Amino acid sequence: MRHLAACLLAALAPAQPAQATLPVAAVVPLARPFSLGDVRLLNSPFKAAMERNADYLLSIDPDRLLHNTRLYAGFVPKGEIYGGWESAGIAGHTLGHYLTAISQQYAATGDDRFKRRIDYIISEMAVCQEAYGDGYIGALPPTELATLRGFRNGKIEMAGPFTFKSGAWVPWYTEHKVLNGLKDAWILGGSEQARAVALRLADWVDSVTSGLTPGQLQEMLRVEQGGMMDVLAEIYSLTGNPRYLAASRRFYHHAVMDPLLWGQDALVGLHANTQIPKVIGAARTYEVTGEPEGRVIAENFWGLVAHHYSYVIGGDSDDEHFYPEGSMSNHLDTNTAETCNTYNMLKLTQHLFCWNPDTETADFYERALYNHILASQEPKKGMFTYFMSLKPGMFKTYSTPFESFWCCVGTGMENHTKYGGAIYYHGVDDLYVNLFIPSALTWRERAFGLEQDTDYPTGNQTRLVITRAPAAALALKVRCPGWAAGQLSFDLNGTSLAVPGAPGTYAVIRRAWKAGDVLTVTIPMSVRAEAMPDNPAKIAFLYGPVVLAGDLGPEQEGPTVPYAQSQYANEGASAPPVPVLVRGDGPAEASVIRSSGGSLVFRTQGIGRPEDVTLRPFWEISYDRYNVYWDLVTESRWRSVGTQEPSGF
Ligand SMILES: [Zn+2]
Repeated sequence: MRHLAACLLAALAPAQPAQATLPVAAVVPLARPFSLGDVRLLNSPFKAAMERNADYLLSIDPDRLLHNTRLYAGFVPKGEIYGGWESAGIAGHTLGHYLTAISQQYAATGDDRFKRRIDYIISEMAVCQEAYGDGYIGALPPTELATLRGFRNGKIEMAGPFTFKSGAWVPWYTEHKVLNGLKDAWILGGSEQARAVALRLADWVDSVTSGLTPGQLQEMLRVEQGGMMDVLAEIYSLTGNPRYLAASRRFYHHAVMDPLLWGQDALVGLHANTQIPKVIGAARTYEVTGEPEGRVIAENFWGLVAHHYSYVIGGDSDDEHFYPEGSMSNHLDTNTAETCNTYNMLKLTQHLFCWNPDTETADFYERALYNHILASQEPKKGMFTYFMSLKPGMFKTYSTPFESFWCCVGTGMENHTKYGGAIYYHGVDDLYVNLFIPSALTWRERAFGLEQDTDYPTGNQTRLVITRAPAAALALKVRCPGWAAGQLSFDLNGTSLAVPGAPGTYAVIRRAWKAGDVLTVTIPMSVRAEAMPDNPAKIAFLYGPVVLAGDLGPEQEGPTVPYAQSQYANEGASAPPVPVLVRGDGPAEASVIRSSGGSLVFRTQGIGRPEDVTLRPFWEISYDRYNVYWDLVTESRWRSVGTQEPSGF
């Protein structure tokens, strides 16, 4: 995929010309996601995570998030400013994430407590927008706001990838969250007032950037800008107003996008989470204009990151940056796998899946969802990881409720409100069952409904119970994961079906369904090992979709354990030596044995040195020290080196 070049652009011509109807869409996707309100989660770890997150969202005081908004509009704040990043130059990013999160939560559940918060925040923002006077609304401190306003006069002075010379810290990044939150309050939260506030802010973005020369724009884009290109393209789609598409195009960063368009890998050394939203913007531009370049950029980038720069958990980056391919085994550090990156990679993956529904992208989605996103939430307070450390023997560090407000807290708030959005997709008369998460689906346009009942991945079956069906035939397309240990099998109402179910394909079952039909899907699972791309002697274990981590016992609670104000608080923490595995006659995974009982607990048998280890799903390990990648050594090597220098193997 990474070598797609210009000669292929013609093959990706728009499926049909731009439509006059809204939203503007120049490309007809083969698959579409359902609205969050069409899918209700049933009991599972995902529903538990969503409910825990909802409690946290309700514990946040909107007036505190609006502190700066009122202060710098000339009003007395109604709440104290929050700590952490909300007291720094990036203040206000949480306000935007929060609007998106509560809008998604409201869309998914219809819970009025969230609707009231949406309406309150928007009404406060509308009043402040009047006071700011020029259309701006947000919660930026004076330096950041003055810097953006200064762009109107062509004053672009970049200092580094995150700052302008004024000292402003990523002001467009922050404003993107606000504009996106307003858009979500409008579309998902049903707020007409949010529409007016959002469009006025979008007009302001246009007015600030419209006079800049191409050179000035490219200079501006050297500082992280979040998903400005994406959200403006979406607002164009929602309104049909070409002014917003023109504004979106001003955020096209040639230095990063052009190599991707030509199939080159120029990512090494770049800040990972700065780039992913740009690529999502390119993907969205393809969808609203039909211009094929955006799709090429998105597919090339996705192929690079998913296949060459991602750890087994689906996350990427070390110290937030892409590092040279072939050096991953030197990057098992405390600061691996920023959680925002995976939030954004999942967004991008959804675009690719909708254009070309295949199991490659769907498998990646599942991997990253279970092993990074679900694994990023702390189960007592619903707190969030920033980095997902892959340092052997390390533990997870979580945010505090009100003194951190990192980027990954903002995206984290959103993550757990939208699990229902990626389980099912649909075409015209086909339904994709992508994830095996207990849920109830209503497909309104086709008068079809089903409930998915499963204890997957603890069990290896899922039951799809049809609750409502039209007279006409519909195709159920069930994902057969590429990792499956054999053909999937299908049983309808107790009778075996002769349906091909090869791993890495979709099993297609087309029939006139009846309410009460029960389709049982069996997914063969086994323990398997995945080696690091650059080192076959460093392996991780998986069972089905689940990364298994060695559980090395609890880490003692302390001032920064498990909750820390700074994401770097435990950066220098030491880790004890981690057991190694010795090579036997067979593959290592043959010596990883599932304990009896209905849980996903495994233990190595005879290959651990100095002792065998217990393995559990990575997402379930919250307060213990853990290990994901194991050194695989010969018995004689183990005898001569021992445990003192595990990284020296
Ligand atoms: Zn982050």
